[in-house]
Amino acid sequence: MTTIVRNLQRVRDRIATACIAAGRDPASVRLLAVSKTFGADAVIDAASGGQRAFGENYIAEGVEKILALRAWQSTQSLAADSRLEWHCIGPVQGNKTRLVAEHFDWVQSVDRLKIAERLSAQRPSHLPPLQICLQVNVDGGANKSGLAPADVLALAQEVARLPRLTLRGLMAIPEPAPDFAAACAVHARTKAIFDQINAAGLLPAPLDTLSMGMTADLETAIHAGATLVRVGTAIFGSR
Ligand SMILES: *Cc1c(COP(=O)(O)O)cnc(C)c1O
Repeated sequence: MTTIVRNLQRVRDRIATACIAAGRDPASVRLLAVSKTFGADAVIDAASGGQRAFGENYIAEGVEKILALRAWQSTQSLAADSRLEWHCIGPVQGNKTRLVAEHFDWVQSVDRLKIAERLSAQRPSHLPPLQICLQVNVDGGANKSGLAPADVLALAQEVARLPRLTLRGLMAIPEPAPDFAAACAVHARTKAIFDQINAAGLLPAPLDTLSMGMTADLETAIHAGATLVRVGTAIFGSR
């Protein structure tokens, strides 16, 4: 067993333990393996260990790996459910939307209507709709990306109308918290925004994805209600 496959197993165990501690079904939390800065060989390793969903921050680097993994998979005899799913989790500039729309399955970092409109217009018709999360700046970091909490519902309604996008949920990257209680509190704020949007009943379908929690804080995120955790370091090592 490789180090990455062993690490993956440890992270899955952490997720299961956190779910049980929170009284949640371990199947209610998905693991996104964040492979940024690591090469295609590391992704192949994780894919061989059963991991299917991968997150990338940098568009050109991500697309390179998506193509490399597609080439690798075409040489394997694979089970029907072995298709990889790629999530863009980094900032998307206007001049990068086409690459993202043509290659990724999800974009978790949408915080402007302009970008969402471009992604919808540029999504190729032979692909399923691009799955979208809105990034929320939950702790108000001044120069951080993400929407102010008060602006989330309005953008959610506009994004939900775009034909080639499917709005799935919210993503947050809070600052590291000093202790368990503080981390729970900030994740609980994101969960409250998520619940308020669903309670408003103004979207065609309820949000089903709450993306929060990384290597250092996946337990508190799961405690607060995360349905998807994004883990890099604990799987691939430090960057
Ligand atoms: C890098 C990154 C992660 C993974 O962080 P780790 O601390 O390495 O687990 C998760 N989400 C986003 C948006 C990132 O940029």
